[in-house]
Amino acid sequence: MTVAKRTFDAVIVGAGGAGLRAALQLSEAGLKTAVLTKVFPTRSHTVAAQGGVAASLGNSTEDNWHWHMYDTVKGSDWLGDQDAIEFMCRKANEVVVELEHYGMPFDRTDNGKIYQRPFGGHSQNYGQSPVSRSCAAADRTGHAMLHALYQRNVRANTQFFVEWIALDLIRDQDGDVVGVTALELETGEVSIFHAKATIFATGGAGRIFHSSTNAFINTGDGVGMAARAGIPLEDMEFWQFHPTGVAGAGVLITEGVRGEGGILRNAAGERFMERYAPNLKDLASRDVVSRSMVTEINEGRGCGPDKDHVLLDITHLSPETIMKRLPGIREISIQFAGVDPIKAPIPVVPTCHYQMGGIPTNYKGQVVVPKDGEPNAPVVGFYAAGECACASVHGANRLGTNSLLDLLVFGKSAGESVVEDIQSGNLSLKPLPADAADASLARISRLENQTGGESVAEVGNAMRRTMQKHAGVFRFNTLLKEGVTAILDVAERSKRTEIKDKSKVWNTARMEALELDNLIEVAKATMVSAEARKESRGAHVRDDAPDTAEFPNGRNDNEWLKHTLWYREGNRLDYKPVTMKPLSHDVEPIALAKRTY
Ligand SMILES: Cc1cc2nc3c(=O)[nH]c(=O)nc-3n(C[C@H](O)[C@H](O)[C@H](O)COP(=O)(O)OP(=O)(O)OC[C@H]3O[C@@H](n4cnc5c(N)ncnc54)[C@H](O)[C@@H]3O)c2cc1C
Repeated sequence: MTVAKRTFDAVIVGAGGAGLRAALQLSEAGLKTAVLTKVFPTRSHTVAAQGGVAASLGNSTEDNWHWHMYDTVKGSDWLGDQDAIEFMCRKANEVVVELEHYGMPFDRTDNGKIYQRPFGGHSQNYGQSPVSRSCAAADRTGHAMLHALYQRNVRANTQFFVEWIALDLIRDQDGDVVGVTALELETGEVSIFHAKATIFATGGAGRIFHSSTNAFINTGDGVGMAARAGIPLEDMEFWQFHPTGVAGAGVLITEGVRGEGGILRNAAGERFMERYAPNLKDLASRDVVSRSMVTEINEGRGCGPDKDHVLLDITHLSPETIMKRLPGIREISIQFAGVDPIKAPIPVVPTCHYQMGGIPTNYKGQVVVPKDGEPNAPVVGFYAAGECACASVHGANRLGTNSLLDLLVFGKSAGESVVEDIQSGNLSLKPLPADAADASLARISRLENQTGGESVAEVGNAMRRTMQKHAGVFRFNTLLKEGVTAILDVAERSKRTEIKDKSKVWNTARMEALELDNLIEVAKATMVSAEARKESRGAHVRDDAPDTAEFPNGRNDNEWLKHTLWYREGNRLDYKPVTMKPLSHDVEPIALAKRTY
């Protein structure tokens, strides 16, 4: 197969919120920028974001970035890096107002300001009472945001390669990143995108689980590509289960529903969150609400004939409020649960939603790895932003609306870093290694030429079942141990996948097979990192690390206040310190404390 070569200043993989925000920075600076995307940009998963984007604008209730920073550090169960968190919370107002100026159609308050609603874990005055911090466009915030960013990129002449799937990262003999290989879905052609800078913005990998709010395209491609290229993956044991997926379907019901006053009830009609989180109740952070729901179900207080879900009740809200603020939710509920929420409560269960870990980056969007005794040494030419990256602002648990903010802040800062590094001459076009496309071509050839191998669909199902059973909302020592063996076994099988019907090799079948290679890396990293972390923290809660006086909530800061790094080579783990020091010398660190809501 011949391999065409294209050369750019920068190549960005991913056209969701993070990729588009980064691209805008580059194109507006006049750099020749290519954006590769598996789907049309405005179909990226960001389009599905419902509830809003966090910023302490204080339009409805008093607010400031110090409170936002405190909530984010506490939400992360102190695993988030405080320099990056300070950076994100301080930048929030600026990037949201910028978006407003790009034409984002936010909802408005009566006096014309951006409408804001309360969200889980966001509070006034260091945890005292809920605050309205989520800037929203009804329950279609991501949709509005993605369209505003896409249009702005069209204006800036960003060059899009739509329905192209990036296959592998290219590193030279120094380990520097010099581009990617990619397959065009229409023609099956493989190309090399040679660039001074490569930015990954490939989104999440929620499809490693059976039950997920994520789109089918969320297959962790960037994370898998980075792992295959020898980059360690950070904090992959931490996955967020969103409390309110539609029971049976998994489709998301935004937390904004509880922000607007929705209440969770068990079979007895009781508002059970009052028992688990007396202050913030239904608006406690997501890990806390999800575990409370599973506890209610496990203790026999679930609803329905199988007692396998709880109810989300908004029947006390006026139909006008529901139609104005939550129209999409009403549609989802009618379509997927057969329930009109104006008249009856929605059946919900916790569902896999968000990956807190990912490719390690600093607050500038540079990918960083341990090197020569330095825990965070930048990899030349490589940047990442959005859900595929771990900055780390979400630590062990992300607060709702902080992801859309993460895309804007770190998409922009990754873009700024690239512009700076190219314009200052720090980055130049390095030669491609002679074997730049070999690994990708070998994978494609295996899929088509191997016989007697495994079916992609069956191996994928085995992976999803294994992850769901062994690494769910609650984690058990024995299940995790068995899970490691099971997932390594599935990974072995994935090396022998092939496209079964050789007479009809569609590029979509190729794509599914190549995506599975990436999902498997994410699944292995998750299980191995989770088995090794012998404490409970944030979304990672183990039966053998319970809440005790010595270890509040099961968290063990003496041994485990550190980031996990998983290396694909040798299936090896390493750790690096959490940055407890904020970015600015005059900002006080948020001191360790027990997390209660
Ligand atoms: C249903 C739902 C609702 C949510 N609601 C909210 C909310 O209200 N507020 C909030 O803060 N967060 C929310 N989140 C989380 C948030 O939306 C996501 O974390 C965020 O949108 C991810 O953005 P991204 O730019 O990193 O990736 P995505 O938007 O997922 O985009 C990934 C891009 O990468 C491309 N891509 C991937 N792999 C390849 C490849 N191999 N080659 C080429 N292109 C590739 C895709 O085509 C796509 O363009 C929600 C998530 C879901 C699933």
